[in-house]
Amino acid sequence: MSQIQTGLLVLLLTFLGVVGYNVYLSEITPEERSYTEFITFVENDEIKSIHLKGGDANVEDKKGLNFHTYIPDVSSILPLFKEKGIEITAEANNENFSGFMKSMLPILLILGGYLIFSRNRQGGKPDFGKGKGKSFSPQKKIDVSFNDVAGISEARLELTEIVDSLKNPEKFSTLGGYIPKGVLLQGPPGTGKTLLAKAIAGEALVPFYSIGGSDFVEMFVGVGASRVRELFTEAKQNAPCIIFIDEIDAIGGKRSGGNASGSNDEREQTLNALLVEMDGFDSDETVIIIAATNRPDMLDPALLRPGRFDRQVTIALPDVKGRRKILEVHAKKIVMARGTDLSDIARSIPGFSGADIANLVNEAALMAARHNKTAVDVSDFEDAKDKISLGLERKNVVINEKDRRVTAYHEAGHAITAKLLPETDPVHKISIIPRGQALGLTQQVPLDDRHTYSREYIINRIKILMGGRIAEEIVFGHQTTGASNDIVTATDIAGRFVCEFGMSAAIGPIAYSQEQDGFLGGTSSSKPYSEKTAERIDNEIKDLIDQCYNETHTLLTANNKFLHKLAEALLVNETVDGEEFEIVHQCFLNDKKIEWNLKKKIKEG
Ligand code: ADP
Ligand code: ZN
Repeated sequence: MSQIQTGLLVLLLTFLGVVGYNVYLSEITPEERSYTEFITFVENDEIKSIHLKGGDANVEDKKGLNFHTYIPDVSSILPLFKEKGIEITAEANNENFSGFMKSMLPILLILGGYLIFSRNRQGGKPDFGKGKGKSFSPQKKIDVSFNDVAGISEARLELTEIVDSLKNPEKFSTLGGYIPKGVLLQGPPGTGKTLLAKAIAGEALVPFYSIGGSDFVEMFVGVGASRVRELFTEAKQNAPCIIFIDEIDAIGGKRSGGNASGSNDEREQTLNALLVEMDGFDSDETVIIIAATNRPDMLDPALLRPGRFDRQVTIALPDVKGRRKILEVHAKKIVMARGTDLSDIARSIPGFSGADIANLVNEAALMAARHNKTAVDVSDFEDAKDKISLGLERKNVVINEKDRRVTAYHEAGHAITAKLLPETDPVHKISIIPRGQALGLTQQVPLDDRHTYSREYIINRIKILMGGRIAEEIVFGHQTTGASNDIVTATDIAGRFVCEFGMSAAIGPIAYSQEQDGFLGGTSSSKPYSEKTAERIDNEIKDLIDQCYNETHTLLTANNKFLHKLAEALLVNETVDGEEFEIVHQCFLNDKKIEWNLKKKIKEG
């Protein structure tokens, strides 16, 4: 039975209880008469029978009418009844108990209903987040501190202030200061928003209530709003404390303002309840509400008004430094080989979030365990990284020699194009070990995190992607499907070059809408366009791709000895790292043979 159904049942039982009780009373309880009146009736011979229960007398007169009275001293009046020939019946005096029972009847019914109700709720998931438990049971002891959250130096100052206000609310209020009520943490998934909220509770040593925004809304109409009220009531009793609402956009999305769907009623009621609760705080109730979202653009502006979530802290994906610090935090939990350089690893994982990094460290430890190592080293991180981005190595799949050769030249084509063109990221690793769906890989790692990209960088990116297919064509004279992913990516970049970056001369710096997604995505403010413009855009994209193709073809043809050298190295070694690649390059430049040392490490001959 759902919560709302049981709720209704309780109401129904209560209602029936009260109504039934009243009906019962009016049927069996005759009119009340005073004792004096009663005696008068007796003396006038008007009484037929009396039913006694202690002092309670139910009386029937000779006309068949009933009434009730109370007789103070039954034994002294019994002779008079006898004298008048009145029929007396009596029962034991358990009046007190049954009267008690009668008056308790509605309460008993409510209690019974409640028992059914609560048993039913306990039968549900104990997860309060789903709204099926009574208490919000906060986490009382949080063992997360700011030291567990790395790379958030900018946010830290602001958050430290919040910790202070939780620790010494008096200090803030006596200074006339104003304790923040709501803090909105905004940033992409996995950047540590939840972790940070916990760390605040951990630092301030206050209880931590955590609930997901969507948990409020999955319920029936009105339930979400009352859950919000319950949550705040409980939190206030435990103040100072923190309420953490994850994915607040689930309830805090822009209100429709009377749109057609109407199905948002529940969400809006919940949001309204939240706003009312936030506005209704007294200054001595230090309850800080921390909310997290990765779609701040979706939030109802009402949430961001003063006195609500007026502190907004943006948490971005970590940069190199941040990634190194996060690596440090998580590396402490595993046994690292001595001298492992975390900076190198940090540099090789641009775009990783904190959660990705935590996962990487975990995978690296598993890799080391798989190889029976006693400590985790850089190669485990490399393996873990490739596993995460491409899937596990498939060492036992049999790749026929022809495919291996095609793959070797394909990857060599990517790597050499990258090497020979300016404004490109250094090649970190080339491999023809199949992983997941891919037969091989060429990894480039930027020296620094890039925030903007030059026109040349983007064009060269397209050329590098083309390089794989072109090398196959030059060497084998035919095409394979191995390049299909590259072509999709290249086309995508070319499209953005024209429509988004405004870098094509013929179209100019006008943004035309293409599909967008990602953080802060959503509504596109780009210009819609006519059929004619669409054609021009298509032509521009095609021209760009053609130009990249032709130039790369020329480049690789001119350097086809380099191509053969690198392909050879790959076929022997399967993996060529950045250093080895440089040696192969030197061999090519100096027209020398590649030599292999015993460990199959590449040396210049
Ligand atoms: P969000 O709430 O932003 O989606 P979480 O706080 O749930 O991200 O992060 C998930 C996990 O990723 C954390 O429990 C932690 O292990 C790791 N993590 C994320 N950011 C950081 C960080 N800045 N420092 C250390 N670990 C982090
Ligand atoms: Zn490729």
